Amino acid sequence: MVKTEWTSISLPVPLMKQLDKYLETEDSLMKGYTSKAQVISQIIRKFLQQEKQVTFYLDSKKYKKKLPFKRVGKSVFCMLCRSQVCEHGMRLQRHRANIDFDLMEEGDIIAEIPNLD
Ligand SMILES: [Zn+2]
Repeated sequence: MVKTEWTSISLPVPLMKQLDKYLETEDSLMKGYTSKAQVISQIIRKFLQQEKQVTFYLDSKKYKKKLPFKRVGKSVFCMLCRSQVCEHGMRLQRHRANIDFDLMEEGDIIAEIPNLD
């Protein structure tokens, strides 16, 4: 069994008092939260997942190639133009109703919507 090492960090006392109060509630108990360390660890894991950079592609008929995009947090960058705002990005945005960019995994390829001009 792997032994997990622990470290400590300084956090604002008022915030930690609020968290202590929350941990005494029925809501906390029902959700399975038992310690500050457990809650903070979960928040950090979620943050790191959100901030993870993911490269994915739009297989474009118009440009006759796979357009590379990088998702960083909630933003999507065109890797051809190194920009958030360009014609490729605008083309990608037309897929937003059908595709959740938050769920993209590294190397995913999106097929263009048929008949997209
Ligand atoms: Zn571009």
